This record gives sequence, C-alpha cells and structure tokens, in this order.
Amino acid sequence: MQSALDTTFDIQQIRQDFPVLHQEINGRPLVYFDNAATTQKPLSVISALTTYYEGYNANIHRGIHHLAEQATAAFEASRRAVQSFINAKQWQEVIFTYGTTDGINLVAQTYGRRFLKEGDEIIISGMEHHSNIVPWQMLCEERGCILKVIPVDDNGELIMEEYEKMLSERTKFVSVVYVSNSLGTINPVETIIQKAHAVGAVVLIDGAQASSHLDIDVQALDADFFVLSSHKLYGPTGMGVLYGKLDLLDKMPPYRGGGEMIKEVTFEKTTYNDSPYKFEAGTPNIADVIAVKAALEFINGLSKEAISAHENDLLQYATERLSDFEGLRIIGQAKQKIGLVSWVMDGIHHQDIGVILDQQGIAVRTGHHCTQPLMQRFGIAGTTRASFAVYNTKDEVDRMIQGLRRVQKMML
Ligand code: PMP
Repeated sequence: MQSALDTTFDIQQIRQDFPVLHQEINGRPLVYFDNAATTQKPLSVISALTTYYEGYNANIHRGIHHLAEQATAAFEASRRAVQSFINAKQWQEVIFTYGTTDGINLVAQTYGRRFLKEGDEIIISGMEHHSNIVPWQMLCEERGCILKVIPVDDNGELIMEEYEKMLSERTKFVSVVYVSNSLGTINPVETIIQKAHAVGAVVLIDGAQASSHLDIDVQALDADFFVLSSHKLYGPTGMGVLYGKLDLLDKMPPYRGGGEMIKEVTFEKTTYNDSPYKFEAGTPNIADVIAVKAALEFINGLSKEAISAHENDLLQYATERLSDFEGLRIIGQAKQKIGLVSWVMDGIHHQDIGVILDQQGIAVRTGHHCTQPLMQRFGIAGTTRASFAVYNTKDEVDRMIQGLRRVQKMML
C-alpha cells in the first residue's frame, strides 16, 4: 500500500539516495525501523564527507593557505545553515558539540555550576532520556540543588497541572524533552517555556527527536537553550548543536580549555574568546560539521511538512495494525506523536521480539531506550520500538506485522 503523500515525493527515488537500505539481512531485504536511534545517511551527506577528505582536508580558522580557508568557509557555512534551520537570531548562538548529550552537559557544567546554588530547584520530566537526567543529578550532588520531576500520565503525556504546581521562585532551571524517544509524545514545550519564564527560570529543550520531524523555531519557542544531534537528522554521528541565547552564552564560563577558545594566553592570565568559539576548544569534528549542511539541505529539499506528513501516515497505519494484534499493548498513546510506536507483548520478552524480527531482516530497537525511570513508571522492563523516517513504507510496516505473527507462533 502506498502513502497518500507519495504523490508529493517519490519514495522509491528517495530510497535510491540511501545505499545502506539496499541490502539483505538474513536473506531478506532490510527493513530499517531504528531511526530514533540513528537515521541512515543520504548520498549527499556521504559525499560531503569524502569531498572534504579528498579535496580540502585542513584545519580551520588559523590557517592562511588555500585549503584552510576553504575548510573554514565550509565549516562556517554549516553554522549559518544550522542558524537558519532552527531560526536562531545570530550565528554566534550556534555552538557545535558532539551531540545532544554533550550539549546538555555543557550547559549543566557551565551555566549550572556558575549560576545554580544550594536549594535551587531544577525541573525535568518523567520521560527524559538519561542524558537529560544524569547531568542534572551530578550538578545537584555537587551544588545541593533539588531535582523535581513532572509526572507522566497513562497515555504518556506530561501532567501539566503538576508542572504548574511545582513552579515557584525557587525554580531556577527547567530542562525538558521536546519529543520522547520511547513514546513518541510531542510535549507542549511552548507552554512549558512560558510558564517557566513567568517564574524567572531558564529553559533547555532537548530537541534530539524533534529536529528531524517538527519545524524548529527557537525564537518563536523562546527557548533559552536548545540541543540536537546531527545523526538523528540524516547527518553524521558524533556531531550536534547547542543553541543558546547570546546574552546567556556571554555570561557563561567556558566548558573545556585549550586552543581556539582563547583570545590571549600568558602564564599569568588567559582571556577567553567570544561565543561560539569560547565553547569549541580544540580541533572540532570538521568533516562532520560540514556534512551536516548537506543533511539539512536534504531535509529542506523535501520539506519538513511533507516528511512529517509521510511519517504520520506510517504512524497511523502502524498504530491501526498493531492495535488489531491480540496480546499486544501500545505504550504511549499521546494525542500528539511523531512517527514512533512502542509496545509490549503478553508473555514474550522484548529481546526475543527483536531477535526474531532481526532474523527476518527487520531492525527495531528493544529495551529501555535510555529512559529507565519512564519504564519504571509503566511497570515494564522495556518495549519494542519501531521509529519511522522519510524512506520507510507501508509495505515495510506490513512486513513487520507478519514478523510479529511469526514471533507469536515461535514463542507462545
Ligand atoms: N535525548 C533524546 C530524546 C534522545 O533520543 C537521545 C538519543 N537517543 C539523546 C538525548 C542523546 O543523544 P546523543 O546520544 O546523540 O547525544
């Protein structure tokens, strides 16, 4: 069955752009439904990497020779591309990191250690990835801050009344995920930010799962910090972005010390560079930063609207088919979701589901998805998760449903 939106873009042509999809796993054509862990990469991204290494590999910023200038221009062009992708007001607000985890740690270790003190309250939510829990716990341990958690209801939505009750003049920081990687829930981050600002708190949004599916406008959201990972939006691994409002970044101390982040060094005193360089010590991941521009161009070329319409179509279809499945329970029934569905099956461990699907060439993710507290909230050890990207089809969903039938036959 074809998607309603296949008329607006040609799915088979899009699939041609992704070499990795064209292989057999265990004798069956690969179905890749592990996109929330990392998306596959189009040829344009792969080619941006090889073009850099084959054509103009050089270190950036300080070189005056031709290749250094070419590499620097491409690196900084990527920063402008990210600026426009998230609608940041200024390019100085875009800092390259190693990923979402790195961005959150940067904020906790610089803003947090400088400005948060004993008794200050930090609010996160019950559906955070470990990377938006542990850095705040480490800070609380060191500084004596108090961590508060917005509870999650049975549908997998945040209980906003509880959030409102938690807010007070003691709330100094709120750090919340835009889209849950385990449930697919899209959180009302605009409201979360407004309410936090009303009590004077600063807000970080974990945009790891949101950025390839939803339009991101950090100015409209009024987010103080926003983090994302390139590898979840068709770009390279080990590369991400921290957006911060410039007045906040200017007040923050540097994260790592070293080359590039300084203005002048003497043994007596070092003065620091301005943002974003203040936060980019050492030789960065040059090739991957350059390739992220190609990834953003890939997304913009298709349009986020068309991509998410296609993924929503797949979500709806998969949800319907899974709902008909006896002995299967979907975890996460939020009204607003991205193309991601998680479930448990009576009497069958998720790991067995993953292994038997893999034997049929179907890649899904099983386990706690780095959200152990959320799994505890639902009283489960883990789920099986299928997460969709632009290149997935309804035929592939059908293959997964057939695969699950086989799982039941083998296990029950
Ligand atoms: N937050 C969310 C919501 C995620 O899905 C992930 C990746 N699974 C992360 C944070 C961490 O991202 P990374 O591993 O790229 O740092």
